[in-house]
Amino acid sequence: MPELPEVEVIIRELAPQVTGEVITKIKPYWHKTVVDSGFSTHKKQIENVTRHGKYILFQLNGGVIIVHLRMTGQLILKRSLDSDAKHLRACIYFDSGNILHFYDSRKFGRIYLTDNPQEVLVNTGIDALDKDLNSGAFINIIQKKKGQIKSLLLNQKNIAGLGNIYIDESLFAARIHPLTRVYQLKYEQIEKLYKEIQRILRIAIKGMGTTISDYKTAGGGFGGFQNQLHVYGRADKPCTHCGTSIAKIRVNNRGTHFCPNCQPVPKT
Ligand SMILES: [Zn+2]
Repeated sequence: MPELPEVEVIIRELAPQVTGEVITKIKPYWHKTVVDSGFSTHKKQIENVTRHGKYILFQLNGGVIIVHLRMTGQLILKRSLDSDAKHLRACIYFDSGNILHFYDSRKFGRIYLTDNPQEVLVNTGIDALDKDLNSGAFINIIQKKKGQIKSLLLNQKNIAGLGNIYIDESLFAARIHPLTRVYQLKYEQIEKLYKEIQRILRIAIKGMGTTISDYKTAGGGFGGFQNQLHVYGRADKPCTHCGTSIAKIRVNNRGTHFCPNCQPVPKT
C-alpha cells in the first residue's frame, strides 16, 4: 500500500502536469470508485495538488477531488484514453485533451468529489510531515494514548501517513519493540522515534518511495527505497546491525518485522 512517501512522490510529479487543467468530466468504470456527494466538478479548474496523510487532494476553484489509492491505486496522466486497460476504474477528462487515468486492480481505491474535504478527512489526524508536528507535539499525541506503539502509529486518527513499512523501519531505527506499550516508553525514546520517523520519511521521498508490489510513480517509474529497508520484508534474514534473524509477528493483522536483539521486549 502506498504510504506517505509514495503519495508525496506522486503529487510532486502530478502537480506540474495537472495544475491549471479544467475538468470536463469524470467517468467511473467501476461503480464504487467515484464517491459523488452531488458536487459537480464540471468546468472546475485544478489550482494545486496537495497531500494529507495518504490522501491526494486536487484543490479546485471551489471544492476538491480527494483520492485514496488504498492497496493498488495508480494515477497516470495520458494524452489519450487507454480504453483496453484491464484495471482502469475511472478517468478525469480535461479540456486540454489530457486524461488522468485511475488504475486499481484490487478496487479499494476511492475518488471523492466534495466541497467539504473535512467530510472525507474526518478520521485523519495531523500529517506526519506537518511542520506543526514538532517533537513536543508528537510526544503529546503519543503520551495521551494507551496501547501498543505500532497499533497507535498505524491508526491514521493519531498521525496520518504512516503505514506498515515506515513504522517497522522507524521502530527498528529507534530500537523500540513494536508491542511496547506507551507507558513503557521513556520520553527520550519517543523523541528518538519522532526523529527517526522524520528522517526515514524524508530519505524515502528522496529515494522516490518503496516499490513492493504495485506502486509506481505518476510517471510510471519505480521507487528505490526498497533497497534501504532494514527489517520490513526481511523475516529470517540477518539484522543489518547485529546479525540476529529478523522476526515477523502480526500486529492488527499486519505483518510486523523487528530484530529481537536490537528491539528487545520491554520490561514491564
Ligand atoms: Zn539487530
